Parts: sequence; C-alpha cells; structure tokens
Amino acid sequence: MNEELELLLRGIIHPETEQNIVDSGFVDRADRGEDGSIAITLRFQKARDPFAQKIKRRVEELLAERYPESSAMVIIREAAPKPRRREQQTTTTDICRVVAIASGKGGVGKSTVTANLAVALRHRGYNVGILDADIYGPSQNKMFGVEGYVPDAEKDEAGNEYIIPAQSLGIKLMSIGFFIKPTDALMWRGGMAVNALHQLIHQTRWGKLDYLLVDLPPGTGDIHLSIINELKISGAVIVSTPQQVAVADVVRGVEMFRHAQVNIPVLGVVENMAWFTPEELPDNKYYIFGRGGARRYAEAAGIDLLGEVPIIQSIMEGSEDGRPATGFDPRVEEYYANIADKVVENLGGDC
Ligand code: ADP
Repeated sequence: MNEELELLLRGIIHPETEQNIVDSGFVDRADRGEDGSIAITLRFQKARDPFAQKIKRRVEELLAERYPESSAMVIIREAAPKPRRREQQTTTTDICRVVAIASGKGGVGKSTVTANLAVALRHRGYNVGILDADIYGPSQNKMFGVEGYVPDAEKDEAGNEYIIPAQSLGIKLMSIGFFIKPTDALMWRGGMAVNALHQLIHQTRWGKLDYLLVDLPPGTGDIHLSIINELKISGAVIVSTPQQVAVADVVRGVEMFRHAQVNIPVLGVVENMAWFTPEELPDNKYYIFGRGGARRYAEAAGIDLLGEVPIIQSIMEGSEDGRPATGFDPRVEEYYANIADKVVENLGGDC
C-alpha cells in the first residue's frame, strides 16, 4: 500500500467500527502508478451498503482535494473486511484529557500560547504534559529551557520500551525537536514524521496527567489527521492574531475539527497579539493588527472567545529565556489563568 495514500485513508473513520478504514480492513489496495494515477480498491461485504458508498465518495473527495491533477479510480470489491490486528501498547491510558492547540499559519503565537496555558493549568494544580508535534518549527524545548535534553529510553520487565520525557516547571514535555534539527524539518514530511509521532505518543512515559496539550503544526494536513487518529482529543484551541482570524486557514482549521468524521469540539479561539500597550502609557491600547476580529469571527462561527492576549515584552523574553511569562509576570498570568479556566469549563470541568 502506498504510504502517502495509506496516511490519507487513515483519516477516514468508519462510523460503525469507529476506527479508520485502513485498520478496520476496508482497504484492499492503494497504489500510485508512475504517471501519478491512483488506484484504490475497497472491500465491503456488499457494494451497495450505504456506508460503503459513502466511504467511497469520501475517498474520491479526498483524492480530488489532495491530488487534483491525478486521475483516480476507486472501486469496491465484494469481500469480507480484513481488520488489521494492531496490538497497541500505549502509555496514554492515564491521560484524562488531550487538548490540541492549532493555528492557521505559523508565527501567530501557537507555541507561546501552548506553553503559557500549560503553566497556568499547572498553577491550578493539574498534572500537565505537552507533546510538541510541530515538525516544522518545534519550539517547546526552547520555551522550557530544555533544548539540550536527550530523551532516555527504558525497558520494563515485559520488554516494552519507554521514552522518558523532559520535565520543566513541573510539566512533562516531549518534543519532536529532541530528535530533529530544525534544518531537517522538510525531510520529515509524511510517513517518517507520522511514525516518529506515533512513537512519541504511545511510548512516552506520560504517567498520570490531567491535561496533555498537543502543539500541532500550523495549518491542516496529514500530521493533523494522524494525530487525531492516534489520540482521543477532547477539544481544540485555535490561536490567531487579529488580522489572521477570518482568513481561510483559520476557518479551514475549525472546519477540520468540526468535520463529521473528526468531530472534535472546538473549545474556542485565543486572540494573540490583540493590542500593544507601551510601559509609559499603561492606559493606552494600540490595535496594531486591527481590532475585535476574533470576537466577530468567534460570534459568527459559534465559538467561544477564550481570551485576548496583548503584545507583552515579557512573553517574548520568557520564550527566549526558557520560562514562560505566566510563571513570573503577574499580568501575563492573569490573562492565562482566565483562558485556563475557560478551557477547563468548556471541557466539562475536572476529570
Ligand atoms: P507559532 O508557534 O504560531 O509559530 P510562536 O509561539 O513561536 O508562534 O511565536 C512567534 C514569536 O512571537 C515568538 O518570538 C514569541 O515569543 C512571540 N510572541 C508570541 N506571542 C506574543 C505576545 N503576546 N507578546 C509578545 N511576543 C509574542
């Protein structure tokens, strides 16, 4: 089976088995010819089964979206599905809630929000972990001052291997950045990154966590689909700057989570870099990137506005110095404490 196609197909969940169609055994074949043409054979007990037809259409839609230039043929063969047996060992069983942090574009502060939200939740007494899955710009290791950390592996008596996460400010941290150099990021597209993330998710010794925050890559893509597939995500937080909020990327991100087959609640939007206040004029707010965009978008899309965070020098300095500003600047802590409370509330309260 072609790896790229397999990845794409793993994003389709069968409504009955509640598993992706690859592991459920509905995909017989998924190949790409040298001319780029695509041939996919699905196997269903009955070709006329409404689920089979629906899944076939979904496959065709995804192929047309992803490979608009290629000719694609999707056929159904009448045969019993062959579920793949994946005896999955996973270290995620004691994680109560997984929260994905997403953004339409890079550079809007998604990683900064993840780090500060983690610290705010920790200050609320929760056990918190972060999975930095942003293969294009992993930065949590820097934000928490553990760039040089080399994860140790440990074996238990049964021979299962675990990866030991870094710890900083009481937060467990596993980052794809521990394994790749920033210049390697391009190489990590597709299958390799997905396999590495699979390992980081299921082999990290997370222990008992109330919240695992996942710093996703910007945009929407294979990595997102695969993480959605691997982890039971309880909700998603969208980060945007005022000028980015209504653009197609953010809307697409929200739609990805809300898609019927994904069905992850969007907990709300954080508007980052919402305004600037100079030290010497503490009552003045300058809306450098526009005003009220996130509030308007959130209202129109029926999503909560979790908070507006202004541009504050300590936020930037904290990221540089390896300690998120929520840990030392009371102004920043207040913004993030409110966001953390809303996130917990929108997830339905404590575990
Ligand atoms: P992303 O993860 O979306 O690519 P980052 O979190 O890396 O973005 O943020 C980009 C840059 O902006 C970083 O240098 C960060 O320190 C800075 N930054 C983010 N939010 C703020 C803020 N509210 N005030 C000041 N600087 C910020």
